[in-house]
Amino acid sequence: MNLVILSANKNLYSTKRLVEAAEARGHTVSIINHTRTYVVMESGNLDIYYGDHVISDVDAIIPRIGASVTYYGSAMIRQFEMRQVFTTVSSLALVRSRDKLRATQILARHGVGIPKTAFAKQPNDVDSLIKQVGGTPLIVKLLEGTQGLGVVLAETRKAAKSVIEAFYGLNANILVQEFIEEAGGADIRAVVVGGKVVAAYKRQGKEGEFRSNIHRGGSGAKVRLTKAEKDMAVKAARALGLHVAGVDMLQSKRGPLILEVNSSPGLKGIESTTGVDVASIIIEYIEKNYNKSPGAKKDK
Ligand code: ADP
Ligand code: GLU
Repeated sequence: MNLVILSANKNLYSTKRLVEAAEARGHTVSIINHTRTYVVMESGNLDIYYGDHVISDVDAIIPRIGASVTYYGSAMIRQFEMRQVFTTVSSLALVRSRDKLRATQILARHGVGIPKTAFAKQPNDVDSLIKQVGGTPLIVKLLEGTQGLGVVLAETRKAAKSVIEAFYGLNANILVQEFIEEAGGADIRAVVVGGKVVAAYKRQGKEGEFRSNIHRGGSGAKVRLTKAEKDMAVKAARALGLHVAGVDMLQSKRGPLILEVNSSPGLKGIESTTGVDVASIIIEYIEKNYNKSPGAKKDK
C-alpha cells in the first residue's frame, strides 16, 4: 500500500512507530505535514497539494491531527475522503470526538455509560444545576481543556457554586459533571482498532490527586478488562464512528463510564505499559479494509 500519515511532527513516538510498522510489512509510507498541505477544488476535481506537488496514488491515510488544527485537519481529511481514499479517522469522527460536549451528547444518545453531565451557558439557578448532577462533590470541566488542566473537583456546594460562577464570569464554556469517587483517581485507557479492544492500561493519579493524567504525574500499569468494559469501549468508539480510538473510562459502582474518546491515541503509554505492538495492529487493520469501501482505489 501507499500510506500517508498526516502528522505535523515526524519525530513523535507514535508517528515513528507507525512508519516502522508499515515499512516492516512492506508498505510505502510518507509523512505529510497537514498544516502545510492545501486543497484545490473545481467541478468534478478535488486535488491536494504540498507546495507545487500534487498528492496522488494514496491507498490510505492515518490522520494524527493535533487539537489546535482540528478544523483545518478535518478539511484535509475530507478532501482525501472525497477522492475515496481510506482513512482511519473520518473527518466527521474527528470533529465529533474533539468537541467534549458534542461527544458526550452522542455517547448518551447511543446508550454508552457516562458520568451524569450538564451544560449550561448562564443558568439563572446554579443550585439546580448542582442538584442535577447529584450534588457535591462534583467536577467542573473547561470544554477547551486537555491533559487534565481545566478539570476541577469542587467538594462543597459553596466551592462548586463559586467555581461555576467564576468560569461563567470569564465567559468560559464548562461542563458540570457527577464526581465518580470510587474511581479512586484512576482511569482506564483502552485502544480500540476495528471494533476490538487490542490493548488497555490503567492510569493512577499520584497520591492525593483525583486526575490520572500522565502529565499530572500519574503512572500506568497493566490491567485486564472485564467483558462489560471491553464492550463499552467498543460501543463508544462505534458511536463516534472511529475505527481507531483511545477510549478513557472510569470504573464505577454502576459499571464502566466513558470520559473521552481520543481520535489519535498516543502509542507510547499503551505500547510501553502493555508490550502490545499497537502500531502493527493498526497497519494490519488498514490492509484488510482499505479497498473495501465502494469506489475505493479511484485515486490511482
Ligand atoms: P482531559 O481531557 O483534560 O484529560 P478528562 O475529562 O479526561 O480531561 O479528566 C482528567 C482526569 O480527571 C481523568 O483522567 C480522571 O482521572 C479524572 N476525572 C475526570 N472526570 C471525572 C469524574 N467525573 N469523576 C472522577 N474523576 C474524573
Ligand atoms: N497524554 C495523555 C495523558 O496525559 C496520555 C497519553 C496517551 O494518550 O497515551 O494522560
